[in-house]
Amino acid sequence: MSSKLFDLTGKTALITGSSKGIGEAIAYEMARHGAQVVISSRKGDVCESVAAAINAETEGEAGGAIAIPAHVGHKEQLQMLVDKTREKLGKIDILVCNAAVNPYYGSMMDIPDSAFEKILDINIMSNHWLCQMVLPEMIERKDGVIMVVSSVGGLKGSADLGTYAISKAADVQLVRNLAVEHGPNNIRVNAISPGLIRTDFARALWENPDILKRATQADPLRRIGEPSEVAGIAVYLGSTAGAFTTGQNFVVDGGATIGR
Ligand code: NAP
Repeated sequence: MSSKLFDLTGKTALITGSSKGIGEAIAYEMARHGAQVVISSRKGDVCESVAAAINAETEGEAGGAIAIPAHVGHKEQLQMLVDKTREKLGKIDILVCNAAVNPYYGSMMDIPDSAFEKILDINIMSNHWLCQMVLPEMIERKDGVIMVVSSVGGLKGSADLGTYAISKAADVQLVRNLAVEHGPNNIRVNAISPGLIRTDFARALWENPDILKRATQADPLRRIGEPSEVAGIAVYLGSTAGAFTTGQNFVVDGGATIGR
């Protein structure tokens, strides 16, 4: 008999920013482990095609996907995303706040207020809103899992990604706060902090082989990570395997943060 430790059959998972990159990889792995997943990003057509590809792969199995596009920066779109998920899948067992932006690279001396505000709005406020919208049903059910995709950027000082790093550090504190407040209702809240992962988000750091080598040569595993290598921890946290795990920040970075 196969182990049920990582099984997500019967679970529904709402994953923001799941049309590509890390969010897409988490969606695929959760569906492969039996979950019904919601693919969401700003681009409806891309969400539809990712959901269709997942359904083609999981046909006849418990897992599957639907597409509900939404811009996480607009509160009314987040409410629509939550409402439609409940309408189509009945409930939200697992919430993955993954979508984030970084519109500015450079000294915090020069960052325009608009960029500072955008980073805080999309990377922190939207996650807070989504949690506010989803938590009531989890409290009522006395069961639920929330994950926020943070970053190793939130663990260190940064001269050129400072505001992004502030937002990612705040995400980990959001996780701790929610874990403390909602733990008594059996709601587990954790952060996942990837290191350098091969997605469009980090393209500037891996497209050029020399830049990539400089970025990874001091890391224990000496390489960039792939999106699929971040997905396993999300399956762990969403399943029975993670039932006693809350308030933590899981660093998935090939050892980068301990290697230098
Ligand atoms: P990615 O490949 O660029 O994917 C980002 C996803 O978010 C896409 O689905 C994108 O789709 C969606 N998105 C962006 N802005 C959105 C908005 N305003 N509303 C709704 N959806 C939006 O990026 P990724 O690398 O997978 O990043 C995922 C998470 O990992 C982020 O939180 C990022 O900070 C974190 N992270 C990444 C790395 C890395 O090296 N890649 C390292 C540490 C942490 P649309 O454009 O269609 O909306």
